[in-house]
Amino acid sequence: MLAEQKGINEECGVFGIWGHDKAAELTYYGLHAMQHRGQDGAGVVVNNGNCLTSHKGLGLVNDVFKYAPFHELTGDAAVGHVRNATEGSNVYENVQPLLFQSQMKSMALAHNGNLMNTDRLRNELESQGSILQTSSDTEVLAHLIKRSGMEVNEQSIAAALNQTTGAYSFLIMTDDKMYAALDPSGIRPLSIGRIGDAYVVASESCAFDQIGATFEREVLPGELITISAHGMESTRFAIRGQRKMCAMEYVYLSRPDSNVNRVNVHASRKQMGKELAQESPADADIVIGVPDSSISAAIGFAEESGLPYEMGIIKNRYIGRTFIQPSQELREQGVKLKLAPVRGMVEGKRVVMIDDSIVRGTTSRRIVQMLKNAGAAEVHVRIASPPIEHPCWYGIDMSTYEELIAANHSLDEIRDTIGADSLAFLSESGLEQAIVRDKTIHQGICTACMTGEYPVVHDKEKALAYKKF
Ligand code: AMP
Repeated sequence: MLAEQKGINEECGVFGIWGHDKAAELTYYGLHAMQHRGQDGAGVVVNNGNCLTSHKGLGLVNDVFKYAPFHELTGDAAVGHVRNATEGSNVYENVQPLLFQSQMKSMALAHNGNLMNTDRLRNELESQGSILQTSSDTEVLAHLIKRSGMEVNEQSIAAALNQTTGAYSFLIMTDDKMYAALDPSGIRPLSIGRIGDAYVVASESCAFDQIGATFEREVLPGELITISAHGMESTRFAIRGQRKMCAMEYVYLSRPDSNVNRVNVHASRKQMGKELAQESPADADIVIGVPDSSISAAIGFAEESGLPYEMGIIKNRYIGRTFIQPSQELREQGVKLKLAPVRGMVEGKRVVMIDDSIVRGTTSRRIVQMLKNAGAAEVHVRIASPPIEHPCWYGIDMSTYEELIAANHSLDEIRDTIGADSLAFLSESGLEQAIVRDKTIHQGICTACMTGEYPVVHDKEKALAYKKF
């Protein structure tokens, strides 16, 4: 897949705080709560009113902050970031926030999402004399901001954002201000909270709970928030489109205790399980979920079907997500290391196994095999989302048609590949019903990876060329 369609800031988490004397420490806690959004790198830039200081590194939040010199990271504002790197981009230079020191105004940037037109923007910038140090979209935005006007302010940020296409949330911090921006379709999540007099901005509301902050409101599509000593102001840099929050935030990515666009993630997943039980019931003895992201849907399925919910699989908490292993071989080993069947529970039973999604099919195949090896009489796989048949251009790490099993195989073929006795996916309308409960809050969700209907397309012809291989 071309870099133009896929950046490297996928599935990240951003955090910002303004007006708190423990800004760096609270950023560390906030990032810790959002560790699930990226395990490859983390960082903070703290602002003492005169200068911006950075601390960042590769690895988990705890590893990066274990030896952080907090006594040097003083200041009452900070931005932080956790990142999930794609293959080849897991290098220190790409760890965020990126910090740009300048005589005029230094600037830190943290970004979640994907800018789709960075190839062209990069070429333009380079032909005009810019030298880029990273392969990150975030650096492109920094150059656009500086090129739009000498000052980093609402106007130059808005002008830069208007040259980009994609799905993103950005946090930008200068010596005297913090800015938060969300893409015009609101595909990625971004919320504002308060702790005392301080403002907090985070990808997920679980970061607010972690630090004792209260949720204030969502950043709106196309909105640019400015936070400074004068409080918070809102401007709009783009015409606000219908909000299309990423469905995968609910299906898989976000933490169950988070509210994404004011809908609780656990509640939506439980409802996905209920809808699935109504649509595709199974003649079975017990319902089990693949930990952790499928537990909520499995509880919903069990509740709706009247079957007992059991713990059929346990997860070793000390192993990272299988998905982030760089090769298929390691990925397959990863599932074995990570999950174990509860033999005493599944032996001789007809099991309904709920998973939240099938991307490559590796996880389901391994788990079905594992359950059968543990003596399960039958394994009926129920997936709490529709088949993923199209790549994501907006920051979820599913990038090519080739890797998506549902793009290349029929339902029966997938069932046979994963070795299940039966297989069913949640319908698109079932998914939508589970998430969009209140039309006054939700106008819609982005289901491009399931339907191929991309809400943001930067080059129609190129989009069509991507339709198949
Ligand atoms: P697989 O079908 O083996 O590629 O993996 C599917 C599993 O990965 C599901 O059980 C999800 O929990 C998880 N998953 C789904 N989407 C993603 C994603 N974009 N990044 C990481 N893991 C994911």
